[in-house]
Parts: sequence; structure tokens; C-alpha cells
Amino acid sequence: MTSGPGDVLQLIRRAEANTRRDIQQLTGLSRMTVAQRVDALMDAGLVIEDAGAGGATGGRRPDRLSFHVDRSVLAVATVDTAHSRTALTDLSGRIIASDAVDVAISEGPERVLDALAASMRRLVDEASSGRPLVGTGISVPGPIDPSTRRPSQPPIMPGWDAYPIAEHLAEVIPVPTFVENDADAMAFGEQSTHFPGSNAVCLIKVSTGIGAGLVINGSVYHGIDGGAGDIGHIRLAGETAICQCGSRGCLAAVASGRAVAVKLDELGIPAGSGRDVGRLLQAGNVDALSLTHEAGRRIGEVMATVVSMINPGVLVVSGDLASNELLGGLRETLYPRSLPRATRNLDIRLGELGEQAGPIGMARIVTDALYSADAINHRLAA
Ligand SMILES: [Zn+2]
Repeated sequence: MTSGPGDVLQLIRRAEANTRRDIQQLTGLSRMTVAQRVDALMDAGLVIEDAGAGGATGGRRPDRLSFHVDRSVLAVATVDTAHSRTALTDLSGRIIASDAVDVAISEGPERVLDALAASMRRLVDEASSGRPLVGTGISVPGPIDPSTRRPSQPPIMPGWDAYPIAEHLAEVIPVPTFVENDADAMAFGEQSTHFPGSNAVCLIKVSTGIGAGLVINGSVYHGIDGGAGDIGHIRLAGETAICQCGSRGCLAAVASGRAVAVKLDELGIPAGSGRDVGRLLQAGNVDALSLTHEAGRRIGEVMATVVSMINPGVLVVSGDLASNELLGGLRETLYPRSLPRATRNLDIRLGELGEQAGPIGMARIVTDALYSADAINHRLAA
């Protein structure tokens, strides 16, 4: 078995090993080799040792090893149709500072990315306390091609198809950059924070559009072409509403925040986006509540198929429309349309992290990529 320093770091990062003795037991490496690995990780500033803080096993407490999460910082951005956010985090995904960037995705990639980069640099200047920025991450509301990491025919991102997001950002902020689908980043944020023990977590984001993310065995599942979870454009029988993607009768054309906003407008209640609908829900607007409940019912019809296919342990409902009304509607159609086995142990719930799910998940995706076993073995062998 080969257990390089990168493999040892993974054990420490996942808290599977907290002491040198744990590492010896888990890897089968000799005490001497473990010491060399830990020394290399400490010399590189990746691991810190807290004297006498390890688990008590009688006698002297061993020194506790942990990933040095506040040695460096990450800057992440979560792009949405009208409102984007940036955040500065430590390597555990803890948010140090954040900022709102009101730039519409329809303004195109150059303007949006330049506005986000300016905000990220400001956060680094103001809140990094001199710690080095080692990576950036950006999530966008569209499918990402797994091989190029560029948007792949995103239905609601005009001008972004195949755009080199990472290259553009890295030109302005020269550190490694990672690009992810927004629902995937949110799913990873919720799963890694609240359901690390669940092997299958699904998150559905209902904001201006609709998307879903899947975390299987602790990793985001993208599908062969990055299309996994892109359920907003499944066409519903008997529906004819025109969708932003150009088709008719898509789930997003019927049950998204945009669809609810259009129906509210028709009732004389001004609403332009999913966020506006979210505000009306919080204010207890009766029409917004009943339309969101109905949207939940339509989403539940589609999610019954998803749940029957994946049999997840947790289904997290997130986004601007996430509310008890949406959840109630979803349950009304999902349960009767699924076999009891598919839902027997299914926990359907609202997201715990709210709008922090995206930044936290994105930061952890960047950390996982920068500090993977392979990356560290390669770096420390050089
Ligand atoms: Zn569509």
C-alpha cells in the first residue's frame, strides 16, 4: 500500500486520524515513516500539532494533528440570475467576509466576472489579514462540461456557452480557479456540513430557475456531460407555457420563481424574480403562498422520479422559494407517486445553510481539489 504525505493529509482532513498512532493504525506505515510524512506536512504548513490535545487513552494524551485551515484563504463567488455573492473563506469553508454583487447574468461573462473579481480582490484586501489567497471558485446556474469545466449550453445564461470562466478569472486573480454548477455547490455545502454520513444527498434549488445537485458517496455527481440534476427543463405533459430555454411546458416554465412571479404579476402583484417571490412569501402574501404551494406540487411530480431512481437519504429544498408552502406541496405529490421503499428513510427538509450553502460548498470543492492526495503527493515530491 502506498501512503504518501497526501494520503496522510486526507486522513487528517477528514478527521479519520487525529494522532500519529491513528495514522500508523490506518495506513500500516512504520512509526518512522509516519513521522517523516507528518514532518513534511508540517514543514509545508499544511498540518498543525496541538500538544497533548489528542484523544485520552489513559496516561499522557498524544499530540493532536489537524489541517491548518486558517493559514490561507479562498475567494469564492456564487452567480445567480440577478444577484451574485462573493465570499472570503478559510480552507474549511468558514466564511470570513462576504459581499453582494448586483450584476445580471444577462450582462454577459466579461462584465459579470470582472465585477466579481473586483469584489473578491476587495475582500482579500480588507479581510485576509495578510494570509495568502490560494484559490478561487465560482458557481453558475447552468450545467458545466466535466472535461472543459466550461458552461455547456446553459439555458438561462445567454453568451456564456463554453465561455472560459476559469481562464478569465485566473487572468485577473492569478491562482487556481474552479468552476461548478450552483446546485451542485449548494448540495455539497449542505451535505458536508449537516449530512456527512449520508451516502446520497439530493438538493433542489428553486429560485428564479430550478436545478438540482447530487452528492453521492461524498462527491458531487456530475453525469457524463455535466447534465446530472438539470431537471428544470423536463417537459410536463399538458403544459404549454413558454420556457426561457425556448421549449414549452418545462418544469421551470410552470413552477420556478420566474413562473410564480409571472402569475403574481398577472394578479397585479409586482414581482420580477425568484427573490421577489421569496420576499412576498416572508411577508405572508396569500397569493404568493398559494402559488408557491402549487409550484411545490408540480416539482414533487418530477422529484418522485428522481427519488425512485436515486433513493437518497436526504432531499434538501433550497433557493429563494424554499418555504414550508413549497415543502408541503412537494410532499403532497412526491409521496403518493413513489413506492414506500424509496421514501421510507427519506428526510425531506428545508436547507439549513440558506444562501451560505453555495459559498461554503464552493470553498470546500476548491479545498478538496487543491489539497487532494494526488495534488499533495505531487507537490511534496517536487
Ligand atoms: Zn426549459
